[in-house]
Amino acid sequence: MSQQGKVVLVTGGMGGLGETISTKMVDAGYKLAVTYSPGNKTHADWVAQMGSRGYEILAVPCDVTEYDSCASAVAQVTQKLGPVEVLVNNAGITRDMTFKKMDRINWDAVLRTNLDSLFNMSKQVADGMVDRGWGRIINVSSVNGSKGAFGQTNYSAAKAGVHGFTKALALEVAKKGVTVNTISPGYIGTKMVTAIPKEVLDSKILPHIPVGRLGKPEEVAGLIIYLASEEAAFVTGANIAINGGQHMQ
Ligand code: NDP
Repeated sequence: MSQQGKVVLVTGGMGGLGETISTKMVDAGYKLAVTYSPGNKTHADWVAQMGSRGYEILAVPCDVTEYDSCASAVAQVTQKLGPVEVLVNNAGITRDMTFKKMDRINWDAVLRTNLDSLFNMSKQVADGMVDRGWGRIINVSSVNGSKGAFGQTNYSAAKAGVHGFTKALALEVAKKGVTVNTISPGYIGTKMVTAIPKEVLDSKILPHIPVGRLGKPEEVAGLIIYLASEEAAFVTGANIAINGGQHMQ
């Protein structure tokens, strides 16, 4: 499934899941660019650390909530690596609170980062993919977009919206060699999740995962690499669950 030399852009590619997606995509032969938030002061260290591990990665600043910032980021990637052929919309945040406490600021932040970002980023690359007759857009949603989650009206709404966006755009570009898909991870063993106290993991989380463990970032990366491949050309508009059986659609 080698995609030697194709250009992939992963938003939030330095994050908990993003880093594994990034390294696995380089291993699979892609030329890789990642975005980082303009306020992220550790991006240069991360790029250097990746370089010392043999991963050559272009990092560009980008606030995925801002259209012009996305345009500028994609222009930099295009200039340095070539047109983006695979876009992984991975950047996301949570701001959990019950609906009673939910305010406009935390609603907007989550909707803008997890959902508006898909418009802002996909607008920069979709026409080019259609013109070239090949492209892949892979949107990272969440199991909680399908099943809802206590304290996550904002996140569940945004992540459900991700899949509505996916299906509609998939229809519009299907005849042009461009696929658009959603993946919906459950609990994945990133730092954020493994930081949950062991007793909470053991009593409240793992019993709801039939496979009996957290997912591995490598398993999520593997699914993304499949969706980016030639072999996945007939998969479009799908929402692929990767949750150990926690929620079966
Ligand atoms: P992290 O918090 O580790 O990473 C999130 C990434 O998003 C960071 O790299 C961050 O960049 C970036 N980001 C946040 N806000 C912005 C912004 N405004 N502009 C640009 N980049 C931004 O989260 P994960 O790696 O765990 O999550 C990745 C995706 O997977 C998210 O969409 C999340 O919802 C989804 N997901 C994760 C699960 C898990 O178990 N981990 C389960 C289900 C879904 P920076 O650090 O530079 O700010």
